[in-house]
Amino acid sequence: MSQTTDRLAPIGTSHSKFWQNANHYFERVYDSMKLDHLWRAALAAPKRVMTVSCPVRMDDGRIQVFTGYRAQHNNARGPFKGGLRYDTSVNLDEVMALAMIQTWKNALVDLPYGGAKGGVVCDPKKLSLGEKERLTRRYVTEIMPIIGPQHDIPAPDVGTDAQVMAWFLDTYSSMVGYQALGVVTGKPVAVGGSVGREEATGRGLMNVLRKFLATRTKTLSDVTVAVQGFGNVGYNAARLLSQRGATIVALSDRNGGIFDDGGIDVEAAMRYCKENGSLAGFNDSDDITNEELLTCDCDVLVPAAMENTLDESVAPHVKARTVVEGANGPTTPKADEILRDNGVTILPDILANAGGVTVSYFEWVQGLNNYFWDAKRVQDELQRIMERSFDAVNAKADETDCDYRTAAYTIAISRVAEASRLKGLFP
Ligand code: NAD
Repeated sequence: MSQTTDRLAPIGTSHSKFWQNANHYFERVYDSMKLDHLWRAALAAPKRVMTVSCPVRMDDGRIQVFTGYRAQHNNARGPFKGGLRYDTSVNLDEVMALAMIQTWKNALVDLPYGGAKGGVVCDPKKLSLGEKERLTRRYVTEIMPIIGPQHDIPAPDVGTDAQVMAWFLDTYSSMVGYQALGVVTGKPVAVGGSVGREEATGRGLMNVLRKFLATRTKTLSDVTVAVQGFGNVGYNAARLLSQRGATIVALSDRNGGIFDDGGIDVEAAMRYCKENGSLAGFNDSDDITNEELLTCDCDVLVPAAMENTLDESVAPHVKARTVVEGANGPTTPKADEILRDNGVTILPDILANAGGVTVSYFEWVQGLNNYFWDAKRVQDELQRIMERSFDAVNAKADETDCDYRTAAYTIAISRVAEASRLKGLFP
């Protein structure tokens, strides 16, 4: 059974802070922009939120019902676009917050998309491959009425990967009767994916940090970096930063982390983590907790795990002078204020992790045209868009003497507001 609502769902879960945080950032900047107040509520509210039940036959014969969501925040600038998360912590509030963040991100890097996000409450590590496939196919079937290459295009996020996107493609294509490459991005290259998509978020983050450091006449070789989260974003960011001379001094995943001020071999750490199930005990490094990682001695901190990990209890103790948000919403508004007061520069999520959706856009364009690019073209175009976006944010921050998050939100909100105003209200 599925249910759609066109109004904000009641928010009363223990997780509702994330939606409040996302709104806080929007409202703080909207108020400072002196835009028509009449549009404020329309821009804040998600356009549609869908909740679905996904009954799945488990390997032991039981039927387990999983709850799934798809939140579509705003489509003034184009079809909805945003990731799909599999995690036990997924909830309605979280997908609404992530959908809103996605709207601003897509507008900031000037992609012709609106913002959306989806999720299924499950522990993907506890599902067999067959169970995960059946769950994915059932979820796609349930959200069929609101997705499509010109409507809403999902992509990987926490707990999902290229294989999940391949099942997504196949299920949707089977239902419509033709191969619809444009319905989902982050697919394996063998079934219409784009080269370079898997590493794209980490690569975009590297592009942005390098460009920022250049404004301080520094290079990546001059900095030590700590990365929280060792999945798609954290691993690829650490790998690419280290390849360009940065010293990676700390890494962590949900089980804890490691610190080595002499520098960590990122590829070897990944091999070790795969073999041992955790980073603990890697080479000569010291084992640390996730909190210790956030406050360790380093120049640059990259939170690339989950939202709200950098809160007001940790922020006063952060030693890094630069925070680059690989994750979506890792810094709470109170922590953001504390860090700014302490002179820490934050490169916000909607800029720093936009490389993933940018290459997803390339993949969508390639799939719609059935014409595929080589790795060099993907990397060059990604670098161009990330650097152009950083330059725009940097110029806005200089011009209005504000922090990078305010500058990024100002650019993004003004683009979405302009598109909404020009299109007007129907009817
Ligand atoms: P992933 O599932 O590949 O990896 C997540 C990593 O974070 C894992 O190493 C996990 O162990 C770790 N982790 C989870 N909870 C943690 C915690 N409380 N403390 C420390 N580590 C923790 O996910 P991902 O795709 O790398 O996404 C990470 C973040 O980046 C999310 O906020 C996601 O929304 C955001 N993001 C992802 C993409 C993308 O292309 N995958 C794009 C933009 C933003």
